Amino acid sequence: MSPITRWYKRGIKLSTFMCGLVFLSSFLILLACLLVSYTNEKNSLEKQTLGLNENHAKDLSRVTNTLLQSMQHSLKSSSSYMMDHLYLSPNLFQDNLDYFHDSTGYFNAVFITDESGFIKMNSPTSLGQAGTYLTTPASKQALAAKKPIISSPYMGKIGKLIILVSHPLFTNKGQYKGMLGGVLYLQEDNRLKQILGIDSMSKDKSFFYVVDHAGNIIYHPDASRINQNISHTPIFPALKNSTSGNFKVETSEGSSYLSGYAIVPETDWRIIVQTPAQNIEAYSSHLIQSTMLYLLPIIIILLAFILWLSIQLSSPLTALAEYAKNLAVGKEKKDVPEINKWSYEAKQLHHAIMILEEETREKERQLKIEANVDPLTGLLNRRALQSIASNWSSNQYEYAVVMLDIDHFKSVNDTYGHPMGDEVLKMMARILRSQARLEDLVFRYGGEEFAILLYDTNQNEAMEIAERIRQTTEIFPTPIGKFITISLGISLDKQSDEQYEEIFKRADEALYKAKQEGRNCTRLIL
Ligand code: GH3
Ligand code: MG
Ligand code: MG
Repeated sequence: MSPITRWYKRGIKLSTFMCGLVFLSSFLILLACLLVSYTNEKNSLEKQTLGLNENHAKDLSRVTNTLLQSMQHSLKSSSSYMMDHLYLSPNLFQDNLDYFHDSTGYFNAVFITDESGFIKMNSPTSLGQAGTYLTTPASKQALAAKKPIISSPYMGKIGKLIILVSHPLFTNKGQYKGMLGGVLYLQEDNRLKQILGIDSMSKDKSFFYVVDHAGNIIYHPDASRINQNISHTPIFPALKNSTSGNFKVETSEGSSYLSGYAIVPETDWRIIVQTPAQNIEAYSSHLIQSTMLYLLPIIIILLAFILWLSIQLSSPLTALAEYAKNLAVGKEKKDVPEINKWSYEAKQLHHAIMILEEETREKERQLKIEANVDPLTGLLNRRALQSIASNWSSNQYEYAVVMLDIDHFKSVNDTYGHPMGDEVLKMMARILRSQARLEDLVFRYGGEEFAILLYDTNQNEAMEIAERIRQTTEIFPTPIGKFITISLGISLDKQSDEQYEEIFKRADEALYKAKQEGRNCTRLIL
């Protein structure tokens, strides 16, 4: 039998039930609280992280913008100096260019061209670009624009991914003479990278990357992603919405990020700072675990208290149930168990059991009486006779037995009917009651036969009582309007260890003798 079936059959203990109920409800409440606090915590942390990332992106964009402005400014100030000294000695000019390159440290390389894109000099000279023409569309575009520009990333002639920052060269009379350009190798170390600290990914795996207006990645901690285009991803349109903002994004690989972005006004680049959303989930889970650790002792204390309380409640009920069971099987009466005064139900049950107990005892008494009394005559019955006589014999009391039988009773029934016969039996009972002494016990032995137990009675006294009864009967007016007679047999106990059955047997024999010897007489057999 499974434990559940056993429970179902036997019922569940109150303490088990209450503990289970409390455990289940506290578990559900705890679960609901944890879920709500987990969701709230996660949402607020997400919101906070989104805001922080946006602010971080704004800071980075300010720094980048300032740096780019400084780069442009340094190109501008150098360009006017260069124009003034362009036609001095080429060696001196090269020195100036090298000095500009080294002292600012802004660019990986700098160069100067004429208006046709012919590279006059570059620094460091090791690049060997001097004497060649600009070929890339971005550099040609910069040349044609004749104004300061910052290009999108492009693959330079030397096979490196670069960004070009350039400033046009004009004579005093406004004649265009080419441009001064500085290039940043995106995949190599440079000032912008140093300032952004792009290589470092924070401990919580937050990182940022930079895209240009066309969606090309300019910087990314994962160098392999530089120059990838993200304009087709769902992130890109979001980046175009405003100058700064934040959003949660799901990547095609299934990971999600909390992103904040800001525009770099000088170049229309976007700096995106992002944190893996699972960081937040991990942190929130950790928080929930510690909350649970705090709550666990409280729940254990609560459960212990409920267990104690339910035992307090159930123990009087169990005791009362045990008491009621004993009552039902008629065990020895014990005191009704003590109950808690504060338990209403236990009090009610206690009260009900007290009433039940009284009723049961009363019924028991009634049943005992009914079991020993003849319903027609109200006399004790044969069962009671056997019990009393056996008791007297085993206690060696001295007593006499008178057995009597109505003569020709069958003819009463036959002549006057059975109900009238019953009336005669009742009348006979009345005669016996009135003629016996107070201490004598009168029984209906069965049918129209009766018996009398005479306590501490000798032969003469017994004969006297029997004769008195016989004589009263024969003159007693009956319901049938005809006198009846009885025959009687007497016997006495013999002071030996004899069984009561033997005395009765002798009395019966005496009665038989009386019948044989003409009826309406008393015979004695000792
Ligand atoms: P005897 O003188 O030899 O005793 O003859 P009898 O007719 O009295 O004896 P018998 O044993 O032949 O008949 C007894 C009758 O008593 C038979 C039965 O119908 C009747 N009887 C027994 N019990 C009751 C009873 O409770 N009510 C009535 N009305 N009659 C009963
Ligand atoms: Mg008879
Ligand atoms: Mg008879």
